[in-house]
Amino acid sequence: MKIETKSRTAKRMQGVAGEAAFEMLSRANDLERQGRSIIHMEIGEPDFDTPSPVISAGLEWLKKGATHYSPVPGIPELRQAVAGHLSLRHSVSINWKNVVVTPGAKMMIFAIIHSIVDPGEEVIFAAPAYPAYEAAIRMAGAIPVPVRLDESKQFRFSLDELARKITAHTKMIVINSPQNPTGGVLKYEDLQRLGDLARKHDLFILSDEIYSGICYGERPASMLDVSKIIDRLFLVNGFSKTYAMTGWRLGYGIVPSDTFSAVELFVNNTVSSTATFTQRAALEAFTPETDEAVKGMVQEFQKRRDVFVDGLNSITGIRCLKPSGAFYLFPNISGLGKRSGEIAERLLNEAGVAALPGTAFGQYGEGYMRFSFANSLANIESAIERIRNFVTTL
Ligand code: PMP
Repeated sequence: MKIETKSRTAKRMQGVAGEAAFEMLSRANDLERQGRSIIHMEIGEPDFDTPSPVISAGLEWLKKGATHYSPVPGIPELRQAVAGHLSLRHSVSINWKNVVVTPGAKMMIFAIIHSIVDPGEEVIFAAPAYPAYEAAIRMAGAIPVPVRLDESKQFRFSLDELARKITAHTKMIVINSPQNPTGGVLKYEDLQRLGDLARKHDLFILSDEIYSGICYGERPASMLDVSKIIDRLFLVNGFSKTYAMTGWRLGYGIVPSDTFSAVELFVNNTVSSTATFTQRAALEAFTPETDEAVKGMVQEFQKRRDVFVDGLNSITGIRCLKPSGAFYLFPNISGLGKRSGEIAERLLNEAGVAALPGTAFGQYGEGYMRFSFANSLANIESAIERIRNFVTTL
């Protein structure tokens, strides 16, 4: 009998990419350990400390014994606080029983996609994109269908192009605004038209609004402001970015009532629940004191953004839009005449600037680089000079 060689890893992992930011960070750290000076612009996390009321509450709740399992969808107090916070800011009233808390927003994305999408179904997502969407779609056995975010449209997509990608197999559309990696923000009319499409074709929308608190100018439109959508909307948000809490691992979702038990079952069977003391501490995020701390961070981000955008635009071969949200620049580097992978590699090794090639966010990212400006003004200024000198060597 012929014995077939078994594959050592599951087929569904083939074609799945991870977050390049973590890999680049580890390589940049290795170079630093060898004594090289590196400016870190690769990882997507605020360089600020978590606001002190949240830290104090975390310590206090640890001492008070908030160290046991939490209910699967999160502690009621936090679910109620999230529902209250969103209901105040948007035109819809959120029932706290639709809120699910997970260890990070990424887990929420996986929980939703795995609970809702069947193998062979299609999921449309706006790209270049945060890599976890495509990974979750592929790991669920479904088919990722990217729709291009266009630089000439300030990194929004064409609704007509998106509509053309809808087939009988489409189950869900994933959007992210403010967006990683482009910093683009969708307009209210984009969201309204998306809502019309979702109703017309009976689709779900997953709206990842994790950068909603980091915006420059007017508050970004939210899918929660679109009428008659709540029964087909999965809203994802969390504490990582707005409250500088990436390492706390705390995200949440609002899920339609008839899908709640499926999503809850997924969380039950994977992570069981989210840490209890972190959920207690997160209640301090919704206070005026923390709000002030966040405003301070956003003002600081805005100053850095302005300096960085002007700096990059003063370099021949680079063209950079000013993002309206998040803390990333996504300059067009096609004028440098090299692929983004080569530029990223050489920038790290020759200039000591760690940043990501646009292709870390899918094929539509070719011709771009992503720089995080969650770094000090002094480092941003040195990075500009390092990039300027590097470009003259090409
Ligand atoms: N969505 C987007 C668009 C992100 O950029 C990130 C983090 N880089 C996440 C979700 C995940 O957030 P968390 O760290 O809370 O899992």
